[in-house]
Amino acid sequence: PDPAAPLLELSGVTRKFGGLVAVNQLSFSLKNGEILGLIGPNGAGKSTTFNLVTNVLAPTSGEVRYAGQRIDGTGMRNIARLGIARTFQHVQLVSDRSVLENVALGAYLHGKRGLTSAALRLDQNEEAGLLAAAAAQVRRVGLADKMHEAAGSLALGQQRLIEVARALVTGPTLLLLDEPAAGLRHLEKQQLAQLLKDLREDGVSILLVEHDMDFVMNLVDRLVVMNFGEKLASGEPRQIRNNPSVIEAYLGG
Ligand code: ADP
Ligand code: MG
Repeated sequence: PDPAAPLLELSGVTRKFGGLVAVNQLSFSLKNGEILGLIGPNGAGKSTTFNLVTNVLAPTSGEVRYAGQRIDGTGMRNIARLGIARTFQHVQLVSDRSVLENVALGAYLHGKRGLTSAALRLDQNEEAGLLAAAAAQVRRVGLADKMHEAAGSLALGQQRLIEVARALVTGPTLLLLDEPAAGLRHLEKQQLAQLLKDLREDGVSILLVEHDMDFVMNLVDRLVVMNFGEKLASGEPRQIRNNPSVIEAYLGG
């Protein structure tokens, strides 16, 4: 790793689906310790960008680097090993399992452990350690009183917090959050914002896709605005708020 390199850097990244160019020549970087917002209208290519960073998808062309090293095409297991974790726009929980179990599952889903070897060979000490780590993250996202309830019985906003806890249980260096505040009540949003600030204090870097502009503008260090797969603008919140093309494409309505 190159200590002088940005933590994450996309250079000329393009992803096509047949004739559709979902992400077009996208370049941006995220500095160590930063919360970077990724905003733009529906269909702009934000979730696809997450999929490109986490190797769910390969770029059609261009490069993704992490701490200076090329990571596109290296596989999802490698992404987890490097300390990159994410949440999904559409929650992906096992509804009939408890909040705690869902969070513990994060250690497998994020590929740090092989699912089969884990299920077969996890000894009691390891299992106890994993559950303790999961419980700590459940408490951290404010769901301590729901620990043993079925994940599917919680409100959608709380299910999003379970997803955040599930990503945190891997101890990520870079956290990618896809619309984490959607469906959250005002108080839950305030708690989530504080959690993300605390994580930044702890040295976790965050790439955040979110439509709630009050939430975003009060939280992020910088923003990248996407429109039709392309980068429309980037800069600090106050620059973005006053950018005429951003207002026209996204903020105006
Ligand atoms: P956003 O998250 O900004 O709303 P997406 O990245 O989900 O946007 O989508 C960008 C564009 O790519 C949209 O037109 C979407 O329909 C298309 N798209 C995304 N994923 C796929 C896929 N797997 N196959 C085909 N088209 C896709
Ligand atoms: Mg999306």
